[in-house]
Amino acid sequence: MTTESKGRTALYFTVLVLSVVILSSLSMALWGEIPETLPSDQELVLQASMTIKEFGEANQLSNTVLKEVFGLASPEDLQRTLSSTGIPLETLSVEVNKVLSLESEHASKNWMKIRLKFVLWAIYLGVAFFLLKMRKITPALRRGLLLGAVVLFGIILGADPSPMGTVKDAVVLFGQTKVIFPPRLIAFTLMLTGGILIANKFLCAWGCQFGTLQDLIFRLNRDSKDRTGVMKQVKVPFAVSNSIRIVFFVLMTLAAVLWATDLIDPIDPFKLFKPLVLGVFSGIFIAVLLIASLFVYRPWCHFFCPFGLVGWLVEKISIYRIQVDYKTCIACDACSKACPSTVMEAVLKRDRIIPDCFSCGTCIGVCPTQSISFKAGKRSVPPAGKFET
Ligand code: SF4
Ligand code: SF4
Repeated sequence: MTTESKGRTALYFTVLVLSVVILSSLSMALWGEIPETLPSDQELVLQASMTIKEFGEANQLSNTVLKEVFGLASPEDLQRTLSSTGIPLETLSVEVNKVLSLESEHASKNWMKIRLKFVLWAIYLGVAFFLLKMRKITPALRRGLLLGAVVLFGIILGADPSPMGTVKDAVVLFGQTKVIFPPRLIAFTLMLTGGILIANKFLCAWGCQFGTLQDLIFRLNRDSKDRTGVMKQVKVPFAVSNSIRIVFFVLMTLAAVLWATDLIDPIDPFKLFKPLVLGVFSGIFIAVLLIASLFVYRPWCHFFCPFGLVGWLVEKISIYRIQVDYKTCIACDACSKACPSTVMEAVLKRDRIIPDCFSCGTCIGVCPTQSISFKAGKRSVPPAGKFET
């Protein structure tokens, strides 16, 4: 590839990243979220003879909190004494702090923005699904769709919620306070069902703000037909990337449960979409990830992302997925060469472990016999010897 093409890639990369940072700062200043901070555990004033009302006043707890903690049925219940509630005084602080944590989670959310994001995700993924199924995704359209997702779900609608955050925040909140935030559970179920189970890794492919940004950067460093890198690109063996991802997931969970620590927060790449709270360390880490994205396909997704790992497990039973028709396939290998990672190679060789397929459709576009499609059903097994080298 010429020096001119490499220069163009570097220029596009720089313009893209600077635009994301500047525009996200503006968006955040206009309608950013309240930072999520968990209330520190309160030492409560309590005596068995106190009424619930007195207990609430002494500790500045709202009636909503008291209702949640004591399961109050009527205002008269406020006159009951703590000893009559059946809740041991030793566990009362824990119960109150759990309810306060849930309240704080609820208050930190911009619910209008969250609902809007989910509706737009459903529409956007629906359009991408239709285009992929109809074989309409060209290299230029793919870049356009990826850019659209970065702008809409990252710059305009912000870092939260994100598929990754849904898993990470649930683990961390549970580790720190032993509570589960019900709306997050609903979001997680919706994301897994609509974004992974129905269509293989679709939310990651076309909706995740940081995933699509990495994908777009990778495509900036490819020729116009989206087949090879302008600067050399590397396919990391899946055994390596997935092992690191599993270890990272275990460490993240242990840190949350044993030490109430959020291991991802200092390096959270989604903070790129809220640059006003970006620290030096996370800034450097994100810069490294973005530069690496030019050469390695979706490094954060493959090496670190907890949702990526969960999604990889769930995609084993996804309904719609990339499939090869071996009756018409001429074993030319064009698809596995163009595939940004090692997935297609593993599919063709029918490896036992198939890496994450991000349903990008690159393989569909390069197949000379139109033998690859995105459809429902199990993948068929290639005839013995067809792809042996
Ligand atoms: S795997 Fe990648 S695309 Fe999927 S949630 Fe994680 S960062 Fe986003
Ligand atoms: S097999 Fe590779 S090229 Fe085909 S959709 Fe999956 S990731 Fe993309």
